[in-house]
Amino acid sequence: MTYAFNLEWDELPEELREEKIRQYILSGDKRDCWECDGTGETGGKCCKACNGSGQVDPDPDDLHEQEEAEEDIKAHFPIYF
Ligand SMILES: [Zn+2]
Repeated sequence: MTYAFNLEWDELPEELREEKIRQYILSGDKRDCWECDGTGETGGKCCKACNGSGQVDPDPDDLHEQEEAEEDIKAHFPIYF
């Protein structure tokens, strides 16, 4: 039996990387609302996207957030494991 211990992010199976990226995004901070730029208002009215809070939950399906998360994880890998 061979034990393999991977310390390179790029060598991890894609499924595992996707799962880790997802977890990372979901556990991250809320983000400024894209609709109102974090002000909580659009055109003087309460912003519907964030209900006036100016912040929205992170979105693991957002490609841009995925890229950001992957860069972050890569930079600190394997600390997040
Ligand atoms: Zn908003």
